[in-house]
Amino acid sequence: MPKQTVEDIEVKGKRVLVRVDFNVPLTANTGAIRDDSRIRASLPTIKYLVDHKAKIIICSHLGRPEGKVVENLRMRPIAQRLSQLIDLSVDTASDCIGKEVESKVETLREGDILILENLRFHPEEEENNADFARKLARLADIYVNDAFGTAHRAHASTVGVVKYLPAVAGFLMKKELEIMEKFLHFPERPLACLIGGAKVSDKIELLQNMLKRVDMLLVGGGMAATFFKTQGYEVGNSLIEDDKLSLAKELLQEAEEWKVPFLLPIDAVVVKEIKAGASTRVVPTTSIPSGSHIVDIGPQSLELFYGELRKCRTIMWNGPMGIYEIPQFAQGTRSIASFLSTLSATTVIGGGSSAEVVQEMRLTDKMTHVSTGGGASLRFLEVLTLPGVDVLLDKK
Ligand code: ADP
Ligand code: MG
Repeated sequence: MPKQTVEDIEVKGKRVLVRVDFNVPLTANTGAIRDDSRIRASLPTIKYLVDHKAKIIICSHLGRPEGKVVENLRMRPIAQRLSQLIDLSVDTASDCIGKEVESKVETLREGDILILENLRFHPEEEENNADFARKLARLADIYVNDAFGTAHRAHASTVGVVKYLPAVAGFLMKKELEIMEKFLHFPERPLACLIGGAKVSDKIELLQNMLKRVDMLLVGGGMAATFFKTQGYEVGNSLIEDDKLSLAKELLQEAEEWKVPFLLPIDAVVVKEIKAGASTRVVPTTSIPSGSHIVDIGPQSLELFYGELRKCRTIMWNGPMGIYEIPQFAQGTRSIASFLSTLSATTVIGGGSSAEVVQEMRLTDKMTHVSTGGGASLRFLEVLTLPGVDVLLDKK
């Protein structure tokens, strides 16, 4: 069911509490903002509220302060960046609930923007504490959730507040949901899902669910080794989940029953030791030398995958093809990103790591959609809904 958005509710003169995901990556020693794309992603919603004369109260978490005040996780630098990006002044508060914030909110004029302090300075945020949620809700007349990246968590600011305020989606939330729903319910076919990442166990539900929806499934990354092993091939010292072998076998059988091609790499880059500068070899995946680790997908596998993906009208990619953090083993993942960027098919990048690679290679604009929420988009594909989305008002 589509959700109401900021456009479906009168915001003029109203105090609007906007939950955004301003959990931006910070540089470890200086605390500088390394990538402000999450702030940019919420600008359409904030600009809309400014233009429509709302009194805007923004809230977010930042990092993992674990319920305590952590000085270098304050929202002030974020407020400064937002102010630069939107070219308006942005006020900050020393907390996210309480007297001081309440009196600041009272002085807000139409179009003013106030950013509350890091929500996770209070343990009650992640506990979804009702009293904390009520104190947050007291600041506002309307609640807008634009934090797609946090919508898979039932926290006070994503679920709790909704009990007290009319709740609608922001434009980023709307966009993310539309893309995911189109992908799940009425994709242009053929439809492929390319899944990578370290472990089968992280992606079980995704694999199971996708199997029943897609026209082909392609699997790379560390998790492929568990599938090789269950087919009786040796995988050397590659990452294996022994307790997932029977599940991997079942998945392959299920794919056969559903007549969904399940493609695995046919060659791999292997090393004796996982470290930068290791000497690499490309070998068929049916004969991985003992004592070696699979660290990336090989060139023939890439060709195989490209050939199949070229037939598709919609492609979802979640998870890297190798240990991409080490540049030497990032070739497969980077090649997939480049390849997808050249296609005219709908390309949706779902994972945290895959999105990171696409962004780093500056290919974001060449994809149909790069999700701002790795964990949230994975969860949405697994269970087809999210707690923070469920609670928003349905379209009339
Ligand atoms: P995403 O964030 O895109 O959903 P995951 O979190 O599932 O992806 O997986 C990312 C991790 O998978 C990366 O840290 C990467 O190093 C690891 N990985 C990929 N291929 C391998 C491999 N062959 N062996 C070990 N780890 C791998
Ligand atoms: Mg990840």
